[in-house]
Amino acid sequence: MMPANPTPPIPALFLDRMARLLGEEYAAFAAALEGQPVSGLRVNTLKLTPEEFQKISPIPLGERVEWCEAAFSLTPMLGASPGPSALSSTERGQAGTSPEGGGGIEPGKHPYHMAGLYYLQDPSAMAPAELLDPQPGERVLDLAAAPGGKTTALAALMQGRGLLVANEIKDKRVGHLAVNVERWGAGNVVITNENPERLADHFGPFFDRVLVDAPCSGEGMFRKDMGARRDWSEEMVAGCAIRQRNILRVAAKLVRPGGYLLYSTCTFAPEEDEQVISTLLDEFPEYEVWPLEGFPGFMRGRPDWMEQNKKLKARETLSGAVRLFPQRVNGEGHFACMLKRSEEADGVSGWNPDRLESPSNVQERLWLAFAGEVLKTGFEADRLRVRGERLYFIPENMPGFGNLRVVHPGVWLGTFKKERFEPAHPLALFLQPGQVQNVLDLSSTEEGVRSGRRRPPLQAYLGGESLPAEGTPGWTLVSVDGWPLGWGKRVQGVVKNHYPRGWQIY
Ligand code: SAM
Repeated sequence: MMPANPTPPIPALFLDRMARLLGEEYAAFAAALEGQPVSGLRVNTLKLTPEEFQKISPIPLGERVEWCEAAFSLTPMLGASPGPSALSSTERGQAGTSPEGGGGIEPGKHPYHMAGLYYLQDPSAMAPAELLDPQPGERVLDLAAAPGGKTTALAALMQGRGLLVANEIKDKRVGHLAVNVERWGAGNVVITNENPERLADHFGPFFDRVLVDAPCSGEGMFRKDMGARRDWSEEMVAGCAIRQRNILRVAAKLVRPGGYLLYSTCTFAPEEDEQVISTLLDEFPEYEVWPLEGFPGFMRGRPDWMEQNKKLKARETLSGAVRLFPQRVNGEGHFACMLKRSEEADGVSGWNPDRLESPSNVQERLWLAFAGEVLKTGFEADRLRVRGERLYFIPENMPGFGNLRVVHPGVWLGTFKKERFEPAHPLALFLQPGQVQNVLDLSSTEEGVRSGRRRPPLQAYLGGESLPAEGTPGWTLVSVDGWPLGWGKRVQGVVKNHYPRGWQIY
């Protein structure tokens, strides 16, 4: 009988290509492809330090990831094998909330994950955000952002300050991005659902740094993504390269003079990597390759791998790019190249200040009443904006977005109802421990009444149940070991559950 889901082989043509490119190193590469995929855990430094997390981690942590201070590698689970994948080529390279690693605990389902204390990601996929090196207070664009692996890293590196626009073109994927950003609790992220052309038409050369983590053929994910193996063909590589050139061409218009553009993929194919950059350099002479500092094991960019170099003079500066390989680093495959736009380039951005409405007098009164009664922290009044019935806390120096499709213009604080204000889930995750008056703190290790029908209180809360708990009536922050998780409202000794239905996992 045939097995239900046979593991597809790695395409032979791909292996031939890699043998040709890698020469003597090919044997080590081929052996590494037979190994287990590597997973990593990046700590949310907006909430705690990696050292603090190490002390409370319920998951056995491996070594620190050399190129990402906030991250640890995770030991693959014994016996774990690559599974089938339903991901499309554009979705590859993202661990998201996968259950891999973690010595028996599913790290993607642990309450600390629900509290946004960490993000699960292939260590190699952590490199691009680090290499882009965004600074607090800057204007940064993540042009192809879903599901948010790199957005969350960028937000943490920016310490939640400045402006980070996280854009995703696909309607179906933008919701997942929003959930990951909300869980992260960053105060400087605007989520848009746009095509790159419309962003470039609106903003022009506005951003200090732009990340293009491009949709690709996913060769670097062959150990973990069986769909990538199945879909791969030379035609697909060629098709991806055309799309990548189109995206990068538009991205180049969004960078201010003197700003930086980082291009990354999770594939090895030079057609999708060095050659895409080379085309951009031909079309935009104001850009140059900005050599990236590598880490031990990173391979430099390979201008000698470009087909066209057989005819043309090699573009040696492309060696300033980096490529990560599983035989060289503890991670999957990735490519990154940084470009710098000349200070002298033309570029006056036509952006305007935001045009969102400030709260009306009535709304301000309702918000202040809520904040006075429930919160122990303040929000700058000049960053409060209303959209529909919702109140948002917008990033510093927020620009106008005109007719662009903005999914969230900042942190959704809550909704104005008749004569009252109701807090939203993202507000709970944005708050730090100690910033709310009434807290119901649940333990991540409490067993609960297992013999009866009741689940442990934490599981019950995350599963949507109300909890009996005496205390001050009104809005109550529910936390796990002190870390905010969501809202409840206490009425007559019962904390009514306000954990969003879509987030409930138990
Ligand atoms: N940066 C993400 C992360 O770290 O979680 C992963 C991005 S994934 C590799 C590439 C993204 O590009 C996908 O979300 C896909 O929907 C998006 N995409 C596909 N076609 C695009 C296009 N023409 N322009 C912009 N983005 C596109």
